[in-house]
Amino acid sequence: MLPISVAMNNGHQPTEAVIGILAIQGDFALHAKMLERLGARWRLVKHTADLNGISALIIPGGESTTMLNVLADEHMDAAIREFAARGKPIFGTCAGAILLAKEVLNPAQQRLGLMDITIERNAYGRQVDSAVRQGECPSIADHPLEMVFIRAPIIRRVGKRVRVLGWAEGLPVLVEQDHLLAATFHPELTDDQTIHRYFLRKCGL
Ligand code: GLN
Repeated sequence: MLPISVAMNNGHQPTEAVIGILAIQGDFALHAKMLERLGARWRLVKHTADLNGISALIIPGGESTTMLNVLADEHMDAAIREFAARGKPIFGTCAGAILLAKEVLNPAQQRLGLMDITIERNAYGRQVDSAVRQGECPSIADHPLEMVFIRAPIIRRVGKRVRVLGWAEGLPVLVEQDHLLAATFHPELTDDQTIHRYFLRKCGL
């Protein structure tokens, strides 16, 4: 278990960082399980007010169009942009990565537009709904990773400030831009904790 690091508040009161998990739709529960296993504190984020008091956010996989509609209805899209502008870490997986992208293809759609990548939805073709692929994340893992892709997007362009951390079949699948992290696969669906551990490190945990 990872030790939960403690941020000092005025040098007196210790406060533990809490990771928010966007829980509008999709597989948020498995992210919670993973954080639980890693000993990190977490909270589900269902409404804009739930963003208060959390120090980082996970946007899970699911259906990006559904999530976008709810985010817009709740004015949570603007709140998440502001959350990111304050330098708080955000990790988007699959649909979450689509939401983070600056440009979305197939078709073009609304987005948070925080990360300088172009991403194509459902890009592996209709016949391949899901697949497990072997991937590599050389800078953060010394072993190959099993990566689960479900109606996954493909990152077609990465901007200058974006670092590719993971690859599968020659395509970038894990990318980072400062405090933002995006995976086109579902690291919460395997027992490998590498990617979540890495995100917790970005959160100072
Ligand atoms: N195909 C979904 C979308 O376009 C993403 C799938 C996923 O998150 N597993 O939003």
